[in-house]
Amino acid sequence: MTRARQSQVGWSEAAADMDAAQGGHAMGSDGIAVDTPDMSKLLQQYGCGPIRFTGTSDALYERHLMFDNVADLSTLGPRERFEAVARSVRDVLSQRWVLTEQTYARQNPKRVYYLSMEFLVGRSLTNNLLNLLLDPVVKRATADKGLDWIAVLEQEPDAGLGNGGLGRLAACFIDSMATMQLPAMGYGLRYEYGIFKQTIRDGWQVEQPDNWLRRPDPWEVVRPEEKVEVKLGCSFEVRGGTLGVIVGRPSSLLGIPYDRPVVGYGGKTVNTLRLWAAAAPDTFDFQAFSAGDFVGALAERLTAESLTRVLYPDDSTSMGQGLRFVQEYFLVACSLADLVRRFRLHNSDQGIPNWSKLPAKAAIQLNDTHPSLAVPELMRLLLDEARLGWDEAWNLTRQTLAYTNHTLLPEALEKWPLPWFALLLPRHLEIILEIDRRLTEEVQARFPGDDGRVERVSLIEEGAERKIRMANLAIVGSHSTNGVAAIHSDLLRTVTVKDLAEMFPESFSNKTNGVTPRRWLLLANPHLARSITNAIGDGWVTDLGELERLKPLAEDKGFRDAVRTAKREAKSRFADWLQSTSGVTVDPDTIFDCQIKRIHEYKRQLLNALRVVVLYNRLRENPDLEMAPRTFFFAGKAAPAYHLAKIIIKFLNNLAGAIDGDPAVRGRLKVVFLPEYSVSLAERLIPASDVSNQISTAGYEASGTSNMKFMMNGALTIGTRDGATIEMAEAAGEDNFFMFGLTAEQVAGSRSWYSPHWHYDNEPETRAALDLIFSDHFSRFEPGIFEPLRQTLLTGGDHYMHLADLKAYLEADNRLLELYRDPDEWARKVIVNVASSGKFSSDRTIAEYAAEIWDAKPCPVP
Ligand SMILES: *Cc1c(COP(=O)(O)O)cnc(C)c1O
Repeated sequence: MTRARQSQVGWSEAAADMDAAQGGHAMGSDGIAVDTPDMSKLLQQYGCGPIRFTGTSDALYERHLMFDNVADLSTLGPRERFEAVARSVRDVLSQRWVLTEQTYARQNPKRVYYLSMEFLVGRSLTNNLLNLLLDPVVKRATADKGLDWIAVLEQEPDAGLGNGGLGRLAACFIDSMATMQLPAMGYGLRYEYGIFKQTIRDGWQVEQPDNWLRRPDPWEVVRPEEKVEVKLGCSFEVRGGTLGVIVGRPSSLLGIPYDRPVVGYGGKTVNTLRLWAAAAPDTFDFQAFSAGDFVGALAERLTAESLTRVLYPDDSTSMGQGLRFVQEYFLVACSLADLVRRFRLHNSDQGIPNWSKLPAKAAIQLNDTHPSLAVPELMRLLLDEARLGWDEAWNLTRQTLAYTNHTLLPEALEKWPLPWFALLLPRHLEIILEIDRRLTEEVQARFPGDDGRVERVSLIEEGAERKIRMANLAIVGSHSTNGVAAIHSDLLRTVTVKDLAEMFPESFSNKTNGVTPRRWLLLANPHLARSITNAIGDGWVTDLGELERLKPLAEDKGFRDAVRTAKREAKSRFADWLQSTSGVTVDPDTIFDCQIKRIHEYKRQLLNALRVVVLYNRLRENPDLEMAPRTFFFAGKAAPAYHLAKIIIKFLNNLAGAIDGDPAVRGRLKVVFLPEYSVSLAERLIPASDVSNQISTAGYEASGTSNMKFMMNGALTIGTRDGATIEMAEAAGEDNFFMFGLTAEQVAGSRSWYSPHWHYDNEPETRAALDLIFSDHFSRFEPGIFEPLRQTLLTGGDHYMHLADLKAYLEADNRLLELYRDPDEWARKVIVNVASSGKFSSDRTIAEYAAEIWDAKPCPVP
């Protein structure tokens, strides 16, 4: 591969450089000799013998290309080639995959089940090759064959089965669990449409359906023989996207499992991500069909299959849709039926299951409240099917389930109307009411006369329409409730669900989130990964704490140069990719300053935009001002129904346009809004970033995980004291961070008297920035479109306190620019940051879950 071609696409150099980054397979760039593993041995280990991807007629790749397509090879394009490569890789891992399940079946260890409505997986081919250590083989084979590897990789769609952080966390967790050889399984839904595709038209977000399964997915294995039946108390039909219910006519659905391999690093363990697709039971009504009622005969099938058609695109909000409610139950019912079947298979004596062993054999983790119907569903199974008494069923349920809370935003807390339970899940409603009755009794006994507490703790919210509080249900019905960063867990315990935390203090704990260093460093940033490996060996790939050993190298000029060069390479690689795919030119010699995440008021993209407007004003007023040239990148999707978030996107695009059109700041300031934020885009941009913006209103971001990805990749953080950013700054030392703004305590304490007008009246730069926006400077031809910004930032009270933090943000920004003038000092801080990022590996997070919540042990596959 030539340099020029490599630099076209973000991933491309991974193929070229991974061998060195893994520290195992080639010559490091500075000439350190490292061993080359014996590839034929490695492949034998996968049960494949000496396979080749190309070359001979019996090679896996060519067989797939030929026999899967049954076509003249010369007519086949990159898509067919991608499928053939992916299927070959699946062949390679399939024996380990089967062996993994056989090992679990034989050893019968305690299994971990991770239930999540979202798995934001991204692409799998490069990740699987990397984790199987097969990169060098493929690199050699594609080079031999002259295969356009980049074009092949680009054929794989992102599996976008999630909205943002919560879904990506689930994906990082299953990677870590497989790498750590934990007997674990992910359970989710096989949405035919993942998160929508975002394009920008006239500056506005336009959503397009993401039909990612239009072409067959080479990774999934459908297992119809393991289908499960899900019973509902009514029938339903979908008309115009909403759910219509036919009262009193019970119905059932089928859940069909589609399995995807989850390859642990090193390829020893291959766990399963099992995604459920809904189907109608095989009761096709031939009578009706022959009688000419085609519509009636097909309707049932069509409605059933529409259940798993689409992922709801709302991040951190609960839209309260009927179809979503059924999706959540469907996930829970399928997954519990499946895992209980497995439990019975391995833990029965003469056909009689030993139910008391359930908590010793299964740990079920609920990723947010979305799967919290697991509480009444497991109770139902134990009461009605296993025929246990209430107390025993309740103890087993609580000991088996654990719940992770992901947000304190009130609009995100799920509450489902009680009448929906009555219609759809009448038995579950009975069980919930009985749980609530017993809970109420307990509260009254422990806190006599405290009616307020009874009301707050109750599973039922009274009102015009009674609702079930899913967070209360999850907390009461599980033995563990955890938050996702120290500050978040504290606020959860002491504010949000204080009364429940007082009742069940031993349930509450913190598990600070993490990200997988395989995808987010080794795969995404081959240059930096190689520099690290050259310096300290490759132990960091599975033990990120090893990065600590880089700390002394902050004083090593050679290493500082290597890190700087790696960043420069990543930046020009990104610039080349951007140029070739969108025609947008950015200068890699400017500071790359990024904020990429879902668009939300609490994440405060507007605060960042105000900073840019202030800098723009400074340059316009004082053309001689010395200021390092910068490129500001934004990326993120807005929920389609979140009007203000869409206006923020429009504003960012107009800001970019106005700055581009102003010769006064050309070459000094540039704003780029990158459409279609996704895992693949994050993998490209994060390694190329100099500055990471983590600027949520303190107390609102539960953890954040992009903050960690940036830190690992050598960006410096400018941020507020919120979420895991606090712990990151602690790990690196605050003098290596650019922290600013109100603390969560100060935010809460000033709510009652805070007024944005004060800042407008007393801070000239703040006022000038707002006046420029309100003067339609950024909307010359669309006057008035940004009036909603005046409302949210000023007249409406500025709920997220943008103006309160703007001045402090600008001061922190000044310190950052000051540092940038000293490249050596900048590189030192970058190295200290990377070296301190070890805690934020999802391996560490999973080790804590395994030890403190699940009591799960590794079960190595021989
Ligand atoms: C990591 C990641 C997120 C989470 O980002 P935050 O800034 O922590 O909200 C969201 N989307 C994608 C695609 C990611 O990779």
